[in-house]
Amino acid sequence: MWRATILTIFPEMFPGPLGLSLAGKALAAGLWTLEAVDIRAHASDKHRSVDDTPAGGGPGMVMRADVLGRAVDAAVAAADPRPRLVMSPRGVPLTQARVAALAEGEGAVILCGRFEGIDERLIEGRQFEEVSIGDYVLSGGEIAALVLLDACVRLLPGVMGKEASTAEESFSQGLLEYPQYTRPQLWEGRPIPAVLTCGDHAKVEAWRRAEAERLTRARRPELWAARAAAAGKREKPRTRRGKTPRRDG
Ligand code: SAH
Repeated sequence: MWRATILTIFPEMFPGPLGLSLAGKALAAGLWTLEAVDIRAHASDKHRSVDDTPAGGGPGMVMRADVLGRAVDAAVAAADPRPRLVMSPRGVPLTQARVAALAEGEGAVILCGRFEGIDERLIEGRQFEEVSIGDYVLSGGEIAALVLLDACVRLLPGVMGKEASTAEESFSQGLLEYPQYTRPQLWEGRPIPAVLTCGDHAKVEAWRRAEAERLTRARRPELWAARAAAAGKREKPRTRRGKTPRRDG
């Protein structure tokens, strides 16, 4: 079973939105588990403080390595094989590939920062990897952790109805998804593109493919370039006439 352990000063934020819908049903069904550990329970003073002023000066507060260390050690066995992630705008950007890899594992231990961040020695000393959900700054790691969990949980076996629906969606093949339509056939003078209702499966596939490529090129040139580079590598060596072999990927 996929297990998530969250270290936070706001355990009441969990499961939060993940208690509803797909993730919530899966949680209730025991397809994954969630344990929210209150970091404050591991503070040592009567004010239960978890933070202190930054060494070297500057604004804000920093989460203490000693308090966090105790919280981690109490919640996670040293031999626990799960990856230890700390949510951080400085981290490695989260991708669908990483999400898929995490979903295939045994779960994750996720540390949620607050204030200006976390004492670096804790990150090093307890082997946490910093993960970012994007180039913007949140007020805390909890919402970032919920984002990561939501992305992982929907990929767990039995959580989503159709397995196939994850294979075609955005990022799974280095492309954004094609546009989707449903009834009514005509809405405010806008028809569904005729190709989608013509009944020719191959034509539908070709249209979707072309739309996915068009959107990716226009909106995410860096994704498109990475995809082209990856395709180039796969295609080497080229044929003698220098023709590019067909690829269907
Ligand atoms: N001073 C830090 C920002 C701290 S924001 C800096 O400039 O890098 C407080 C906490 O919110 C962080 O410790 C982290 O846990 C979380 N957080 C903020 N933005 C995030 C992001 N983009 N991805 C993941 N976590 C984030």
